Amino acid sequence: MIEENIVDVIVVGAGISGLYAAYRIKQKSPELKILVLEAKDRVGGRTLTSDIITSHDGNETDRFDLGGQWVTDTQENITALLNELKLETYLQYHTGKSIAELQRHIQKYALSMPFISLLSFLESIYSVFRLESLASTVPTWNPMMTRNADYLDQRTLEDLMKPWIHNRAKPLMTAAIRTVYGCEPEQVNALFALTYAQAGGGFMRLTLTDPGCAQEKKIKGGSQQISQLLVEHIGKEQVLLNTPVQKIVQNDDGTVLVNTTDNQTTFQCRKLILAIPPSQIIPIQFEPMLPGYKREMLKHMPIGSYLKFVFIFDKAFWREDGLNGEVISDGSFAPLGLSIGPMTYLIDGTSSNGTPALIGFIGGRCASVWTSVTYEERRKGLIECLSRYFGGHKISTHLIEYVEKDWNLEPYSGGCPCHNATTGTMKDFVDGLRKPYKNIHFAGTETASQWMGYMDGAVDAGRRAASEVLVSFRDNNQLKDNEIDPYTFESQNRRYQNFRVPRSKFYYAIPIIIVTVAALSKIFFPGIFQ
Ligand SMILES: Cc1cc2nc3c(=O)[nH]c(=O)nc-3n(C[C@H](O)[C@H](O)[C@H](O)COP(=O)(O)OP(=O)(O)OC[C@H]3O[C@@H](n4cnc5c(N)ncnc54)[C@H](O)[C@@H]3O)c2cc1C
Repeated sequence: MIEENIVDVIVVGAGISGLYAAYRIKQKSPELKILVLEAKDRVGGRTLTSDIITSHDGNETDRFDLGGQWVTDTQENITALLNELKLETYLQYHTGKSIAELQRHIQKYALSMPFISLLSFLESIYSVFRLESLASTVPTWNPMMTRNADYLDQRTLEDLMKPWIHNRAKPLMTAAIRTVYGCEPEQVNALFALTYAQAGGGFMRLTLTDPGCAQEKKIKGGSQQISQLLVEHIGKEQVLLNTPVQKIVQNDDGTVLVNTTDNQTTFQCRKLILAIPPSQIIPIQFEPMLPGYKREMLKHMPIGSYLKFVFIFDKAFWREDGLNGEVISDGSFAPLGLSIGPMTYLIDGTSSNGTPALIGFIGGRCASVWTSVTYEERRKGLIECLSRYFGGHKISTHLIEYVEKDWNLEPYSGGCPCHNATTGTMKDFVDGLRKPYKNIHFAGTETASQWMGYMDGAVDAGRRAASEVLVSFRDNNQLKDNEIDPYTFESQNRRYQNFRVPRSKFYYAIPIIIVTVAALSKIFFPGIFQ
């Protein structure tokens, strides 16, 4: 084996999580030799910033995110990293009314939720309150500590919501779930969905553009810069592209050997951080094999399904019409004789340079139907949607370019935005995803306990894995630094041993609701108390 291939730490995966882990180790302990191995021919993983044509003559371009893009101040990890890398953000445009297209009915609305009918509106509010209330009780480090964890683990989100929803609230909730998780409510484990929501501060936070919410701000110049700048700090020669890892062998002497697929190169290290998505760990050969609790958890984590698209215009005409460009759709119009879709979510995507754009997603069931048709059919289907919302004449007059990225086809990602869990799997969640196995440590946004599934979660997980590696080197007297961040798998597990699990807010609300209903009944229907 050549000497350059023998290092202290290997990080597999040059997405935000892996690169942040490498950056952190290098910052704290420059004496350690690090290599990052990346399968793709680029860094950034599920973030990808592309040049798109922005003028009718095709001579001008601007940068747009085809992968992860929004951040917010409540995401402390990514906010701190953006400051460190001197990357600026700008606010998501959200002035004016939004549009809802539900059950073949189009409606403009100014509140956080569309008002379809009184009953549906009340049902939607009630469902969100119940979900928020349940999510607020989930300890995101260890979801199985939640009261009724077994009950929730055995049900899908659809099962959980079924008793609360009977009217048009269902298509609205389905569309919101497709947008957040990239899957259908009947496909996702209820306890996982609550954990995911709570990791970001609640369901509504994941869906809104308000301060502190998931769609609040965008990064000037695009989010892929985060990874590109991290590479500059780590050192370009330490990050090897086109290097897919195929086999990982842990020897009895504590060394770890790493084999790649194409060029059959072998690398050696003492500590390895696996910062790749769960579904991409499955095809790797391990010697010895990963423990059962890890294999089972990873096998039951399907990734969401998303196609992201960008429409470039020469004018933000929707703004002039008092619209903010946001549309939520259940796909009920189903043009071209298809069963559903295409549109799931749309929003103003105008760049920091002021190039007018609408960006959106085709997610969940809509994605499986609409990624089965041709590019031309999909483009036509989406333009028909835009024409219904904003007027066909405006679309044909101002449209410059359409670009799409089907993340289901992306090698070494396999979908997006994040992996979900199927029912009955959450008992293995903590150890299955996060527990180190001998000299292998696990990062990646899916292993985060804050903003899991988001860029912030990727940084959170990278920070934890880096600390685990640094602590182990220090404990073996191989590092002098005593100021190592104590945020590790072990320290988090210890912290949670005495954690007091809260009750659902709904539990406290029940007596208030009963007393209020009784009081109102007494005032308006005094007869029923006689
Ligand atoms: C369309 C879309 C929209 C999104 N929107 C947002 C958003 O607005 N805000 C937000 O915060 N997040 C968003 N996300 C999610 C966010 O992009 C991800 O959470 C984050 O980028 C994940 O980072 P990661 O490093 O954990 O994983 P990845 O980015 O997936 O990085 C893993 C890396 O490992 C590599 N790899 C895989 N297998 C191997 C192998 N065998 N050998 C070597 N390398 C391998 C992959 O090529 C990849 O580069 C979105 C994602 C998508 C795709």
